[in-house]
Amino acid sequence: MTRLSTRIQTLTAGGNGWAVYYRAREMKAAGVPVLDLTIGEHDRRTDPAILEVMDASARGGNTGYAHLTGSPALRDTIAARVAARTGVPTTRDNVAVVPGGQFALFAALMAGIDPGDDVLFPDPYYTSYPGTVRSAGGRPVPVPARPEDGFQPRAADLLVACTGAARALLINSPNNPTGAVYSDAVLEGIARVARDRDLWVVSDEVYDTQCWTGPHRSLRSVPGMAERVLVAGSMSKSHAMTGSRIGWLIGPEAVIAGVSALANTTTYGPPGYIQDATLHALTLGEGFEAGVAAPFRRRRDLCLARIAGQQAVGVIPSGGAMYLMLDVRATGLSGVNFALQLLETKHVAVMPGESFGAAAAGHVRLALTLPDDDLLAALDTLLTFAQELSR
Ligand code: PMP
Repeated sequence: MTRLSTRIQTLTAGGNGWAVYYRAREMKAAGVPVLDLTIGEHDRRTDPAILEVMDASARGGNTGYAHLTGSPALRDTIAARVAARTGVPTTRDNVAVVPGGQFALFAALMAGIDPGDDVLFPDPYYTSYPGTVRSAGGRPVPVPARPEDGFQPRAADLLVACTGAARALLINSPNNPTGAVYSDAVLEGIARVARDRDLWVVSDEVYDTQCWTGPHRSLRSVPGMAERVLVAGSMSKSHAMTGSRIGWLIGPEAVIAGVSALANTTTYGPPGYIQDATLHALTLGEGFEAGVAAPFRRRRDLCLARIAGQQAVGVIPSGGAMYLMLDVRATGLSGVNFALQLLETKHVAVMPGESFGAAAAGHVRLALTLPDDDLLAALDTLLTFAQELSR
């Protein structure tokens, strides 16, 4: 075989701790009853009403090539949604519909950076970030956020990491893996750094309907920021449509025109029947979206109540998303070893913090994606295990 490109071979380099995830899959395949809290995906499927529209659209003939950046009707609907949620004037020319939030992140970086540019992001980070930056030719630069700050990034730390090569910041609130929702002060600090250093900010807001601290605040709504903030949105988390692969990028008109060119050379746009289903899903309203989010909020509260009564693990105050980060440093084990031993001896699978960057060492992430009883049984097992270790 002729040699593979360096780019493809190094795309997903790094990330430590996936052994737990693969071992859990292996054990489940061998019939071991593992309580699996590794995966960030709803324990419900896409709503049948959305599927019916998808089906009717496809059967009605919407199976040909679709609009590269989304149908005008869908772009208008998303623009109106964004304007209503953020107060920032937004038209269809600020919206590109793309196959999922992940592609929106890639598209934003393709539009904003050149090969060799630095892209800074707070650590702990969503595992795909380093590879997404590399896929656009950039250099990933994780900037540690501190557990004692609830993993809220400090503007001063970002500023120190900003060398001449810095071209973009990549932020995520509500955050995967920490559940942190950035405070207004943090958002304003990030905005200051971006303005001072003339950076793009790619704002990953795919969890914007899972915010327990109050209405979600988009960085794009900070005064003066709309011209440099590129927002990744998605139907995956808000409407339990992960498999439909649909999301959007919001940004200045020139960026959206660039994403259209990128779609022309990559995806050819999201399927028309998925776009129609999305248009319908977006009319279901806030009540529907709150219903999709509700289990994660309820489970977070149930878990916090359980954790409050013990000392063996600490918890990072989570304000949103479908995750909870636990601090297991008092056990003396790394997150990786804690998770591996918990899996082997107690059959509970959690993600080691180390798989989300060095700053989350000694932590584990719980995805709140099992039914309440199973989740609490898994948590009780974890807490007992941690207590035994701490003794
Ligand atoms: N960003 C974050 C922080 C995520 O957790 C995910 C999915 N787990 C994505 C982006 C990508 O989501 P999607 O492509 O399904 O919209």
